[in-house]
Amino acid sequence: MELKNRRALVTGGSTGIGRAIVLDLAANGADVVFTYVGPAAPQVIQAVESLGRKCLYFESDVSVFSEAERIIALVVEKMGGFDILVNNAGINRDGVVWKMTEQMWDEVVDTDLKGCFNYIRAAAPIFKEQKFGKIVNISSINALRGKFGQANYAAAKAGVIGLTKAVAKELGAYNVNVNAVAPGFIETEMTDKLPEKIKNQALDETVFKRFGRPEEIAHLVSFLCSEKARHITGEVIRIDGGQCL
Ligand code: NDP
Repeated sequence: MELKNRRALVTGGSTGIGRAIVLDLAANGADVVFTYVGPAAPQVIQAVESLGRKCLYFESDVSVFSEAERIIALVVEKMGGFDILVNNAGINRDGVVWKMTEQMWDEVVDTDLKGCFNYIRAAAPIFKEQKFGKIVNISSINALRGKFGQANYAAAKAGVIGLTKAVAKELGAYNVNVNAVAPGFIETEMTDKLPEKIKNQALDETVFKRFGRPEEIAHLVSFLCSEKARHITGEVIRIDGGQCL
């Protein structure tokens, strides 16, 4: 139980990769709070509780600056402290750049990039004061290589990498690890909606000819939140079955 009694917050924990992260952190001994904007997912709470850990959720939009401080105050109050922040919430609004509307750009950048800033900004004073903390930001391989039809998403996720590295330098002196994970194509609600042609292309890009599973991302996140990863910071770890090779 590498994360025994740690208190974790995961943004967007009802579905997909976020849900798998919530469950894996709990399986490793952490109590977990998660946020959501869509339908509530009490079944995730039940699954965590069946692992013997505490779990709470709060409806909250990551793109709203003041919300991050409110949610983190609730984590501290209800869980008795705050040790781990996983910035997972994200959306895509795909379209070629010459058809991309200002709204498509703003929604993705506000959720995927500003959402990470909002939570890091609210967590940093606490982690700095207690001289301990783990931050993991979920980026994407499309931040590293670009992707046709994803100018907004690739830019936001590339911004997450710059944010990760800058904050790793700023918080390093306070014993805080800050890392990013860059998944390839993972089977989730987000990717279910994609056209078959795009899915087949992604499958073909992997060296294993298989899609990644949310649990595989979650194992890496739990590792990065553990003391086994004490000396890893400012890193971007691809987990993509060789999709980017
Ligand atoms: P899902 O669509 O399944 O999950 C996205 C999560 O983000 C949901 O829990 C959703 O909440 C939450 N969310 C969306 N908008 C907001 C918001 N404004 N405020 C708070 N929460 C929000 O997608 P994935 O699990 O696939 O994606 C998780 C992360 O992984 C994202 O950052 C995504 O970009 C990234 N990623 C995914 C890849 C993939 O292939 N699946 C590849 C690379 C990166 P709710 O359910 O309540 O609506």
